Amino acid sequence: MALKTDKNIELVAPAGNLEKLKAAVHYGAHAVYFGGQQFNLRATTKNFSIPEIEQAVEYAHTHKVRVIFLLNAFLHESDIPLVTKYLQHIQHIPFDAIMISDPGMALLVQEHINIPLHLSTQMSTLNHLAVSFWAKQGISRIVLARETTLEEIQHIRQHTDIELEIFCHGALCISYSGRCLLSRYLSGRDANQGNCSHPCRWKYSLVEEKRPGNYLDIVEYAHGTEILSSKDLCLINKIPDYINAGVNAFKIEGRMKSLYYTANVTRIYRHAIDTFLQGGDSNQYSDFWRKELELVSHRPYTEDLFNEFTHQSFDGVPYIKKTLFMGYCIDSTHNLVKVFNPIYKGDSFDAIYPIANNHIYDVSVKVIDIIADNTSVQMAQPNTVATIIFDKPLQQWAILRKQL
Ligand code: SF4
Repeated sequence: MALKTDKNIELVAPAGNLEKLKAAVHYGAHAVYFGGQQFNLRATTKNFSIPEIEQAVEYAHTHKVRVIFLLNAFLHESDIPLVTKYLQHIQHIPFDAIMISDPGMALLVQEHINIPLHLSTQMSTLNHLAVSFWAKQGISRIVLARETTLEEIQHIRQHTDIELEIFCHGALCISYSGRCLLSRYLSGRDANQGNCSHPCRWKYSLVEEKRPGNYLDIVEYAHGTEILSSKDLCLINKIPDYINAGVNAFKIEGRMKSLYYTANVTRIYRHAIDTFLQGGDSNQYSDFWRKELELVSHRPYTEDLFNEFTHQSFDGVPYIKKTLFMGYCIDSTHNLVKVFNPIYKGDSFDAIYPIANNHIYDVSVKVIDIIADNTSVQMAQPNTVATIIFDKPLQQWAILRKQL
């Protein structure tokens, strides 16, 4: 059994929109990260507008969760006046930190806002000298390159007190620290401006130059071939090792993933961190953690790419989806469920909950009735809020999933 420790460890969860942010908050994140509609590495209009950013920060802070705002795009000359204008629009918002990649962005933020700066993994920080360099530039936390080994982290920690963060879970890709021109080359969408079209995940065939249109399959799996697609990272069983090595924060990748993914991965890593910090026995829960992480959409998991870059981590690997996200309870008093996939009378689901005080509250539930306009109906439509009666009462924020 591990000894209880007073280390302060932060779990940083993705918030792809306000609804996912709320899920991350309720399912155990200590901090959330998201970007606005400009200058972050998932820059789309679906991101938070300025009023939405204000609302998100207020919601997180009300629940004592910190907010890390992303301004981690790389800047071209023409971006600089636009960044300056954007910073003027957001400087009143009480973020807890801003994440940057570009040193120019760091200078601009420091000019306009007095706030801790985090350095993105995209700056490929792998050694203690690089860490010292960034500390001298006023950076307070460094998200280490995903290529950094456990031993390197131990070494870096011996030379610095700066906060160190690593990615613990989620998609990896074939590029070095996420810097890649493949997407720009093949689709005109620049990964370094937050607009990657993920061509490393596309399915490829073989064509002989004199037979255009004659696609020859390269057969790896029944569903096709993804020769450039890497496995996903999963460090659930390594959390104690990385805490002992001196890591202060663990980040979950996946702002584009579902609300269910955000909630379930967050609660599992929060439980793993709490179990270790409270001196509990991680082995007691590791099967449960692993089983739950198998029940979110993912590619086969690896710990290797992070530490060893083995060839096996870049084998073509199929996407795994074992559950459907059906909806979640938004009002337990009135049995209101926000529906994401069609729900029928008689369906059975798992209802999952945040893990509190080491207690796993998950239950199986069955749909007894669905009410619309005071009438019992057979099906609740996706993208609606439906009154659904289950055989057991649901608590607010229960997430419903169907195992496939
Ligand atoms: S194309 Fe693939 S390897 Fe390149 S940045 Fe996008 S996800 Fe990463």
